[in-house]
Amino acid sequence: MLRKAQRRSSLVEDEAEPVEEVLLGTLLDLDLLDCPVCCHALTNPIFQCDNGHIACSSCCTNLRNKCPYCTLPIGACRNRIMERVVEAVTVPCVNAKHGCTEKLSYGKELVHEKECSSSLCYCPARGCNYAGMCNGLYRHYFDNHPRDSYRCDYNVDAWMRICDKILVIQECREGPLVAVQCFEEEQGLYVTVNCIAPCTPGVSEFSFQLTYSPYEAPGSMSFGLSKMNRIQKVSFQTPDKDFMFIPHYFLAGRPNLKIKICIYRRGEE
Ligand SMILES: [Zn+2]
Ligand SMILES: [Zn+2]
Ligand SMILES: [Zn+2]
Ligand SMILES: [Zn+2]
Repeated sequence: MLRKAQRRSSLVEDEAEPVEEVLLGTLLDLDLLDCPVCCHALTNPIFQCDNGHIACSSCCTNLRNKCPYCTLPIGACRNRIMERVVEAVTVPCVNAKHGCTEKLSYGKELVHEKECSSSLCYCPARGCNYAGMCNGLYRHYFDNHPRDSYRCDYNVDAWMRICDKILVIQECREGPLVAVQCFEEEQGLYVTVNCIAPCTPGVSEFSFQLTYSPYEAPGSMSFGLSKMNRIQKVSFQTPDKDFMFIPHYFLAGRPNLKIKICIYRRGEE
């Protein structure tokens, strides 16, 4: 029997305001939509053995088509009704409370959440707990924190005290924030450049070029990425990729790092 049930996905964070998500149908435990073997969200195709036990297709492969419950063959016969149930269930995006209206097939929400334009971005200023959608954050930063700014296609001299670990630059007025960070390790400095923005296609897509001229060696070194990484929150963990490495002896013991940075807006792809 059908009845109206108001419920929210178990994936919505606990502190979330109740999301008005009205599903028609009986209440069912969303866990029933997970593969009983690997516990990941079921996606089609879904297989069953002759005893009606179900498993996802990757589990069937991993189990060499032997049902883990009864050892009968599994992997040839699909459970079409379960496939339709899985397809019919939608869950709201975790960012529904910030205005995202996307309804996603169960199990597909993680793919969307990575790119959701309503993802929260966190203020990179030390001691500030502001979090909001990126445009709100850019406005907040402009109104509340002193900042250096950059203009796309122009070289900017970025001066930072190495002990500060981070220099935030903002495109003119309330533009996107870019965090230049340095991580001091035994052998030298790892320098990274990240835009604080959600990974939504078309939002804050930049490339950049860093140039560093050592104090006591001729020439210069440079590093760039054709696609600047986007982060929602700055991390102070030394990166394992996408960094420029400056050996200590290039710094000659100076407490400051002076690099040139040029940021370019990427064209539409
Ligand atoms: Zn599975
Ligand atoms: Zn079985
Ligand atoms: Zn979303
Ligand atoms: Zn702030």
